[in-house]
Amino acid sequence: MSDIVVAKFGGSSLADSEQFNKVKNIVIEDTRRRFVVPSAPGKRFKKDYKITDLLYLCYEHAKNEISFEDVFKHIEDRYKTLAVDLKVEIDIEKYLQEIKQKIEEGASADYTASRGEYLNGLLLAAFLNYEFVDAAEIIKFKHFGTLDMAATEVAVRERLKNVEKAVIPGFYGATPDGKIKTFSRGGSDITGAIIARCTSAKLYENWTDVSGFLMADPNIVENPKSIEYVTYKELRELSYMGAKVLHEESIFPVRDVGIPINIRNTNKPSDKGTFIVDEQRVQTYGDTITGIAGKKDFVVIAIQKMLMNLEQGFCRKLLTILESNGVSFENMPSGIDSVSLVIEESQVADKLEIILEEIKRQCNPDAVEVHPSMALIATVGKGMNRTKGVATNIFKSLSEADVNVRMINQGSSEINVIIGVENGDFEKAYRAIYGAFVK
Ligand code: ASP
Repeated sequence: MSDIVVAKFGGSSLADSEQFNKVKNIVIEDTRRRFVVPSAPGKRFKKDYKITDLLYLCYEHAKNEISFEDVFKHIEDRYKTLAVDLKVEIDIEKYLQEIKQKIEEGASADYTASRGEYLNGLLLAAFLNYEFVDAAEIIKFKHFGTLDMAATEVAVRERLKNVEKAVIPGFYGATPDGKIKTFSRGGSDITGAIIARCTSAKLYENWTDVSGFLMADPNIVENPKSIEYVTYKELRELSYMGAKVLHEESIFPVRDVGIPINIRNTNKPSDKGTFIVDEQRVQTYGDTITGIAGKKDFVVIAIQKMLMNLEQGFCRKLLTILESNGVSFENMPSGIDSVSLVIEESQVADKLEIILEEIKRQCNPDAVEVHPSMALIATVGKGMNRTKGVATNIFKSLSEADVNVRMINQGSSEINVIIGVENGDFEKAYRAIYGAFVK
């Protein structure tokens, strides 16, 4: 494996010239940081705008034949100020006018949105004195818009083979006919992962405004510990219930080639952040849990039927009812004569009556109960399948905190235990579990 480090910087890391300077210090501090992937400028303060949002707004205005002059002016101001403050020799005005004209002429939403990264890439490349490599040249999409990884690998390797240091804008690529295509929102993370994969990088650094993942939500637990190592699988379990730092799709390009991801904080570069690694790489694994995640507002539909276990196709019927109503479920704990469906409340809102009717009609159950306002808490840890006492710890802490556990489920991966409690007990239960593992 090479010595290359790919460093992706998010929007808040590149929101103004002060942030650009921090990025420069980080990049030059380690010569292995040869390929840098920027997002578009993000918010400088809470009520500020993200450039990407403004670009989408320009597109919408243009599409509806409304003047986008004012919105574009904000974009112009941000980039012009950056260019002046960074003292880079780039004719930013020329690029801006070109983009404006294309939007006026009916450029696509993807083209328009991608210009945030494109312009930021130009500025950052000049500022770092790195070569600018347009992502449209190397990130290849198929005609219908899915990523063409094979073609991308070839293009990246070929284009970067003699390039010592480059800035490659995140978020977009192009289809075979040259049309710009973006990933979904937050997709610069994916670009970074692809570049890491295709350059056989040693490490993919993802620089953002937090020092990695915390073991628990700081809004619930005071000052939670940070996670040093998390496996890809654990991260999936933790992030499906919150904790969004990284675009989920950015894991796939690096996971199967074993490149670790390191989440770092541009504002606190001395913090080590969190390493996302594959199972084999976790050598020191002292703690039995890695983190806790949870969400409120689920509804549980509990169905009972004698001899359910002997009836073929019972669950299929249930799930077909959900599918035909466009509802997905979170969890499905089952017993010999009962099964429960755990569904996000927002998903069923106006469909609940219909779903219950259909269950009664098609499945002929003995009883159906609905428990609204339930919360789920997942305790996640790779070590728990080989460690005794994890479940004891969880349930002891809950009973001591006087929480009534309404549902228990262990994921088949054996890296998590999910419990259901009433919404009102959520925070208390969450803190109790955290306290049981982190002294
Ligand atoms: N700028 C894009 C967005 O806001 C992509 C990214 O930041 O990763 O979604």
